[in-house]
Amino acid sequence: MKIICIGRNYADHIKEMNSNVPEIPVFFLKPDTALLRKNKPFYYPEFSKEIHYETEVVIKINRLGKHIEEKFAHRYYSEIGLGIDFTARDLQRECKKKGLPWEIAKGFDHSAPLTETFVNKEDLPDNISFKLDLNGETVQEGNTKDMIFSFDKLISYLSIFFPLKIGDLIFTGTPSGVGEVKIGDKLKGYLEDRLMFDFRIK
Ligand code: MG
Repeated sequence: MKIICIGRNYADHIKEMNSNVPEIPVFFLKPDTALLRKNKPFYYPEFSKEIHYETEVVIKINRLGKHIEEKFAHRYYSEIGLGIDFTARDLQRECKKKGLPWEIAKGFDHSAPLTETFVNKEDLPDNISFKLDLNGETVQEGNTKDMIFSFDKLISYLSIFFPLKIGDLIFTGTPSGVGEVKIGDKLKGYLEDRLMFDFRIK
């Protein structure tokens, strides 16, 4: 199982990061050890002083495919969840400055909290709203209609480079409002009005 994360997929987030709008999707991978499930707490790692949350809609691949045409891509996923792409922003800044890969800033243990249950895509609208509450206050709100690259485009593009396999997860990018977490924080994520995860930073 692989975890594929899309960067820079919401224009308002690109603006807040002072990045450029990509012409093709930007992606990176996290190892399966990055997953954090069942609302278990996230333990703040000692190697970073600036862990940021990035709330992202996650699609789960349900069949094997390579070189998937965009018009058929919708057949490759049926369930949708919500996750966080935790990012050690201080380490990422260093990597970017040196032109190095981001893995140490993105792929560390439990950097990918994920909903325990997924929602059937038929039970969600075409444009899915989602949000993150931090200590009871909404800090990120997004809607998949604002994605630069749609789910189908992403699936088609990624499948040029490697086969997509059953159970693979695609974190589809974050809207604006990313920010730091602190020890003691409580994070709640919603897809539409469904509470999808609820965990603490320890
Ligand atoms: Mg992200």
